[in-house]
Amino acid sequence: MTKRPKRDLTGQRFGRLVVVSFVDKKGSHARWRVCCDCGTEKTLIGGSFTQGRTQSCGCYRRERLCKNADAPHKKDPLYTVWRGIIQRCTDKNNKRWGSYGGRGITVCKEWLDFGVFRRDMAPRPDGAQIDRINNNVGYSKSNCKWVTSKENCRNRRSNVLVEYDGRTMTVSEAAELSGIPRLRIYQRLARNCKDVFAPVESKYRPRNLRSDNAGRWVNNGTTVAATEGGAA
Ligand SMILES: [Zn+2]
Repeated sequence: MTKRPKRDLTGQRFGRLVVVSFVDKKGSHARWRVCCDCGTEKTLIGGSFTQGRTQSCGCYRRERLCKNADAPHKKDPLYTVWRGIIQRCTDKNNKRWGSYGGRGITVCKEWLDFGVFRRDMAPRPDGAQIDRINNNVGYSKSNCKWVTSKENCRNRRSNVLVEYDGRTMTVSEAAELSGIPRLRIYQRLARNCKDVFAPVESKYRPRNLRSDNAGRWVNNGTTVAATEGGAA
């Protein structure tokens, strides 16, 4: 004979769930047949809904996820920002996962809901990007602010310091002094080149020259030997 539960929950409502009947007892867990507002019936352990962990058959969560992916949001300038954050922090297949989710950068629980993110961060100033105040901490209201892309660039650049001619300086300064283009210096730093300030090799297009049909460097119609000099 099936043991009866201590408390009869039949007819009671918990979120979207209404308890239909007692099913059985497994150890100390009473199981109940519940019917969700959406029409789905399920058997659940009483504690899961009496303690508020479960409030529907799963349709509430599904609806919320769907809503986030729905059309009205897609036109929202905040939506693309939000989706980008979620993807790079939670999707292992995302191209930028390694710099975000992969190194422990998380999204706070509240922001998994686009509506909450929107409430916290709207409006997005025209063209602004989201910036984490502390770069080692995840995305949350207290750690995020909007910055214009110019500010973002400047922050990033002033952070990069290089050693040149026995002195520590910004990349821009080093580029001016060494004559190596700033972008080339960034590229070499990113590739961990041993000599960031080595002369630019001639396979790169020398300044003011263009390639002719035969692939030679030309200047005003005069052919310049490809091995000669280079841009540096
Ligand atoms: Zn349901």
